[in-house]
Amino acid sequence: MTRPHADQPDPRRTVPRTDALLAAPAVVAAVARLGASRVKRAVTQAQQQVREGRLAPQDTVAAVLDALPVRASSLTPVINATGVVLHTNLGRAPLSPAAIAALESASGYVDVEFDLVEGRRARRGAAVLEALVDALVAALPDEVDATVHEGLSTAGTTPRSVDALVVNNGAAALVLATTALAQGREILVSRGELVEIGDGFRLPDLIASTGARIREVGTTNRTTDRDYLDAIDTNTAAILKVHPSNFRIEGFTAGVETSRLAELGLPVIVDIGSGLLTPDPVLPAEPDVATTLRAGATIVTCSGDKLLGGPQAGLLLGAAEYIARLRRHPLARALRVDKLTLAALEATLTGPVPPTVQYLHRDPAELRRRCEALVEVVSMSSAGGIVGAEVVPADGAVGGGGAPGVLLPGWAVSLPQAIADPLRRGDPAVVGRLERGRCLIDLRCVAVEDDDRLAKAIRAALEATATATAATATGTASSCM
Ligand SMILES: *Cc1c(COP(=O)(O)O)cnc(C)c1O
Repeated sequence: MTRPHADQPDPRRTVPRTDALLAAPAVVAAVARLGASRVKRAVTQAQQQVREGRLAPQDTVAAVLDALPVRASSLTPVINATGVVLHTNLGRAPLSPAAIAALESASGYVDVEFDLVEGRRARRGAAVLEALVDALVAALPDEVDATVHEGLSTAGTTPRSVDALVVNNGAAALVLATTALAQGREILVSRGELVEIGDGFRLPDLIASTGARIREVGTTNRTTDRDYLDAIDTNTAAILKVHPSNFRIEGFTAGVETSRLAELGLPVIVDIGSGLLTPDPVLPAEPDVATTLRAGATIVTCSGDKLLGGPQAGLLLGAAEYIARLRRHPLARALRVDKLTLAALEATLTGPVPPTVQYLHRDPAELRRRCEALVEVVSMSSAGGIVGAEVVPADGAVGGGGAPGVLLPGWAVSLPQAIADPLRRGDPAVVGRLERGRCLIDLRCVAVEDDDRLAKAIRAALEATATATAATATGTASSCM
């Protein structure tokens, strides 16, 4: 062993003490933000670097802070420039500011299941269920009148009254409805609707897991009411109709409308998928809850984070007596949502138009103006002029397995494909759409407030690619010399 030189003190003696490092104000703040164990690991690592002589002792606190992540969660916020409104890989619906505020206020102790006036237990999430039913009552004025609405609080007493239940997601909603109504019995499903929605949602497998037996009726492209009638026997518990969402059959096809199924004398469960409460003219083929209930569905199931624009959730809406049965089923407890979901969902239903709905209805002329402004800002960097950013027509899409045939007309900024990588890895992270060898920046799903941040991110990425290209060019040139 060689002893350290006299004027070069042993680095092991200069390693800052753990308690001193943990007491530094910036480190105390980091503990509050990220938790002690993570910060302690960073402290230990920094001390090790000092011990090995790779870090100057006076730089230890800075090294600790450098090694810590910015956010407590590893989920990185993304600017969605894909033009796909409900991008499952990017977390589907972005929440409205009202929903975000609701999450904040619901994050501590709240009266989610408690009546503050009477001081006793109350129905869990009553307000959100009322908001859901209110939205339907408004959409079904001729079907569900105020007296029916009043029947809600005593759920199940009025045959035609509607009620609601919220569970974890669309798949859970369907599992609950199928289990509660058809476990150990048969459920009729058209062959053309035995679909896989993606995301691990395979209808036949899901139904099989509930202990109900699927009885397939009709053929892949055509199913008639005769097919259902022929299949019904004493073992039939319900009829299930599923909106194929991401899948279309064209040509010689036939299906049976909900209104006809409702005449067959069995409960009709309709999984509409996307969660439109009322019709939307932009999406003419997309089923909605109000119309489906009016057609006679017993229970409608759908997702909260697709076209409704709320948090991940599964909604069950329909005849109050059936919803009451579902609520009493043991599985309902296993699938129930937390206070945060209830809070965000209520704010989505009662608050301002959520981003999802705004993005679906973007005005193409406004998108074009924003794209032109973006090109102007981006071209101000020297690199921008070289790459020739340009405004091009581009169609957005609904996504999330919804409305596959629907194109949302708009505009995008076309950039070289090489920019996609640095954009994704940048801060903020930007995900564009790769199309025909270009990287398209579609502003449909970008909040207007984010245009400046996006422009900066693009300029930084363009400069990064320009530098990389220049370096390669120089490298090539020098190797030729
Ligand atoms: C998306 C979808 C589901 C699954 O909903 P999740 O909320 O993702 O669980 C079920 N059925 C249909 C028709 C869908 O489109």
